[in-house]
Amino acid sequence: MFNAIRNWRLKRLLDRRPIGEPLWGEALRRCAPARRLDASDQATLRVLATLFLDRKSLEPVQGLELDEADRVLLATHACLPILKLGFDWYDGWYSVILYPDAFMPRRTRTDAAGVVHPTHDVLTGEAWGRGPVILSWPDVLNEHNRPGHNVVIHEMAHKLDMLNGAANGFPPLHRRMDRREWTRVFSGAWDRLREDRRNGAELPIDPYALESPAEFFAVASEQFFEDPAVLRRHLPEVYRQLAQFYRQHP
Ligand SMILES: [Zn+2]
Repeated sequence: MFNAIRNWRLKRLLDRRPIGEPLWGEALRRCAPARRLDASDQATLRVLATLFLDRKSLEPVQGLELDEADRVLLATHACLPILKLGFDWYDGWYSVILYPDAFMPRRTRTDAAGVVHPTHDVLTGEAWGRGPVILSWPDVLNEHNRPGHNVVIHEMAHKLDMLNGAANGFPPLHRRMDRREWTRVFSGAWDRLREDRRNGAELPIDPYALESPAEFFAVASEQFFEDPAVLRRHLPEVYRQLAQFYRQHP
């Protein structure tokens, strides 16, 4: 019964507010991981992107203006991680706030002596537990051409991670996945990368991954979708765990 209502709603949405062919073609042209999918997965991604535009509120601030093609592009990036999971994985939050550039939230940090300091962290993206996703638009477009990077996928990975509590690099795993194996693989890779970094070796992944287990999962997820061959070559076990979690082989 619920499924029937849901399907009817979805059909009505796709009839009334479809992503038209030219906009979809442009989104594929601008989103490499989506371009690499086969036709059937692209069709699924298009439905998910339509749902994303319907269910989430895209809110440009500080004078940023987005046209329809920009909105479709953002939705396309955002739905790659849930291509094989389903839209339910993005339930429970509503807003995507978009800044015209990297942003510096006004926050404070209290040190061990109890002294409060203002922080000056410049961010390209941020995801709140049950709150908004915040993104810098030039970074959504990857205007600095950083290979393997995708700030939208990064923040969406944090969203998935936070479905079962604080972001800790441990999203809700599927029934057939082994929690111990996930921990073994990710902490093993983490230790090896830290060792490599200590020895001055160049890392196959953005060193920001070593900030915390949550960042490791988010950065590895970016690379999984944007540069899967590099991840598979250098961190094959991490690639395999992510393939099981996202149910995809990009
Ligand atoms: Zn992060």
